[in-house]
Amino acid sequence: MRVITTIKEMQIEILKKKAEYKSVGFVPTMGFLHEGHLTLINKARQENDVVVLSIFVNPLQFGPSEDFTTYPRDFERDRALAESEKVDYLFYPAVKEMYPHALSNTVIVQERTDVLCGRSRPGHFDGVATVLTKLFNIVMPTRAYFGKKDAQQVAVVDGLVKDFNFPIQIIPVDIVREEDGLAKSSRNVNLLPEERLQAAVLYRSLKAAEAAILEGERSPAKIKNSIHQTIAAESNAFVDYIEILSYPELKTLEELNGTIIIALAVKFTNVRLIDNLILEL
Ligand code: AMP
Repeated sequence: MRVITTIKEMQIEILKKKAEYKSVGFVPTMGFLHEGHLTLINKARQENDVVVLSIFVNPLQFGPSEDFTTYPRDFERDRALAESEKVDYLFYPAVKEMYPHALSNTVIVQERTDVLCGRSRPGHFDGVATVLTKLFNIVMPTRAYFGKKDAQQVAVVDGLVKDFNFPIQIIPVDIVREEDGLAKSSRNVNLLPEERLQAAVLYRSLKAAEAAILEGERSPAKIKNSIHQTIAAESNAFVDYIEILSYPELKTLEELNGTIIIALAVKFTNVRLIDNLILEL
C-alpha cells in the first residue's frame, strides 16, 4: 500500500493504472475506520483491480457549531487497517492541499436537501458535493462506494454524478451495525458510557416502526409519534428529526407506499447520531 498526500501524485498514479485499463474502486471516508468502512473497502476490493481509500476530514461540510475539531482521528491505526484490507493507495491530503486558497467555485445541491440532515445542517451537502467533485477528479474512479447509513448522501451523490456526467458507478452498501443494533460510526466514541447503552434506541425505535408498518399502520404521523416516545424515554437522547419520506426522491408522504425511508437524527451530549431503515411497501 502507498500513502499519497499530494493531488498531483495521486492523479499520476491513477492515470498510469488507467493506461493499463485497470478498474479503480474508490472509498471516500473521514477516517477513524470501523467495520462499516471496512465493508465498503472489501466490496471495492472484490469488484476492482485497484482500490483507493481516501481519509480527509472535510472542513467544508461542517457547520460553525459542529464537531470538526473533535471529530476522532487516528491516522496510524487507519493506515494499519487499510494495509490489512489490501488497499492499494491511501490518499491522505492535508486541508491545505485540498483547499490551498478560498475556492472560486463550489457545488450547490439544489434538490433533496430541504429535508433530513440537509435541513438541520445547512450547507452540509454543498460541502460534501464540492469535496466529492474534487476527489472524483483526483481519483478518477470506475466505481465509488457509499454506505446507506448516510442515505441522503447516497441520493445527493447519485444526483451529482448524473448532473455532471461523472463516468462513475455509485455503489450503495448496507449499514453495518453493532450487536445491539447501533449503526457503526466513527462518532460513537464520543458517546458517554451510559449514552452508548442508550444509543441502541435509534435502531430499536426504527425496528418497532417497521413492525407497526408490517402490521398495517400507514399513518406517518402516528409512526413518527411512537418513535419519538421511544427515544424520549432515554434521558440523554434528544430528537433532532424523525422523518418518513419516499426514497430516493425524499418527498413527503401522506400515505406510506412504494419505497420509503424512515430516518432519524438524535443528539447526545457530545455527538449527534443518524440512522435509517429503507422499506419496500
Ligand atoms: P465517514 O467516514 O463517516 O464519512 O463514512 C465514509 C463512508 O462510510 C460513507 O459512505 C458512509 O456512509 C460509510 N459508512 C459509515 N458508517 C457506516 C456503517 N455503519 N455501515 C455502512 N457504511 C458506513
